[in-house]
Amino acid sequence: MPRHFDTTFDVVKELKPSYPVYCLRPNILRETAQRFVDMFPGDVLYAVKCNPHPEVMRYLHEGGVRHFDTASPDEIALVRRQFPGMKSYFMHPVKSRDGIRSAHRVFGIDHYVIDTEDELKKIREETDGDTNLKIHVRLATPPAGAIYNLSAKFGARPMAAAELLKQVDALGYEAGLCFHVGSQCTTANGYRIAIELIRQVVDFSGVKVKHIDVGGGFPGQYMNQRGPALEEIMDEIKDCIRWLDMPETTFMCEPGRALVSSGVSLITQVQLRKEDQLFINDGVYGSLSETVTGQLRYPVRPMRLKGEFDPEETLDFTIYGPTCDNMDVLPATVNLPADIREGDWIEFGHIGAYSNALATNFNGFHPEVQVTVGEAFPFVDGEFPYVA
Ligand SMILES: *Cc1c(COP(=O)(O)O)cnc(C)c1O
Repeated sequence: MPRHFDTTFDVVKELKPSYPVYCLRPNILRETAQRFVDMFPGDVLYAVKCNPHPEVMRYLHEGGVRHFDTASPDEIALVRRQFPGMKSYFMHPVKSRDGIRSAHRVFGIDHYVIDTEDELKKIREETDGDTNLKIHVRLATPPAGAIYNLSAKFGARPMAAAELLKQVDALGYEAGLCFHVGSQCTTANGYRIAIELIRQVVDFSGVKVKHIDVGGGFPGQYMNQRGPALEEIMDEIKDCIRWLDMPETTFMCEPGRALVSSGVSLITQVQLRKEDQLFINDGVYGSLSETVTGQLRYPVRPMRLKGEFDPEETLDFTIYGPTCDNMDVLPATVNLPADIREGDWIEFGHIGAYSNALATNFNGFHPEVQVTVGEAFPFVDGEFPYVA
């Protein structure tokens, strides 16, 4: 069990950490999970890749998450070890043959995704003709409001998807359709467009589609990215589901980012200042790799133990990470107190998604300390006030 503190300032006071510290918010993770499970009219699958830390998964589970979207044998094993009775789904359209075999034989996984006939053939061959499986056809969706387009890599176009559905059905499998609107989708419209496309594919195929999976993509709240409230997106999805009028079909979603983003922050320390450049102890090879496209900026909160910051003056700083690589720099400057100096701390908020999951050990730097914290990262009326 990680150590618990009331506030992140208490973490700084007590540990004076010169290493990065992840501050997990059990209550926020539980509440977010509960809201998702309450609002979504179907099964909520947590996309494990987003943050596979066992404590994070534990709080989501405590909040009611009972299904896990996994993409590799290791992720399936991870879920099985931690939650022996819970269900994993193998939702990757390109799987290794050994991966399919172990998923089926060892773990008894019965949900698989395809976006080609070749992958369907692989599944048939590696599961010994077991037709007691649910095969989901991944549909490519047009880009609509997401900062990461996942349909460039995966997904069949509508006519091809309809053909695949027919084959899945003819082979005796339960047929499903799934899509992913792209990560950090900031308009509810992205889901509407995709579900309307689903309707056309279903009608064209003439297949009784038993499962529809609306994927992930639900947005987190960042400095430069304020997605609509979850309620707004869920209302749109529920409206679309009513319009589909498929009472025999079960619905699923696969949130990653929106379940975990606000539930974790990261405390870093300034190790050197050169004018308007700050060198801190975490960077793009560690927890901050999602910043590299420049499309996503985390809110920050500066902290100092001895004395206070000058509240009047701020400055835009270039932030460098700890490795010797010159790419280890945040692409956007960060506004901080003008008198920030070596030994001060900078907390990055809403960093639960794709942070520790992507951190490398490059140059011997690997963020790995975790604590739990009671207070939320300050986010008031859609703003990130910075209070130290
Ligand atoms: C990454 C991924 C997710 C989670 O996406 P978020 O944008 O984090 O919600 C869900 N489903 C699949 C298939 C994925 O690859």
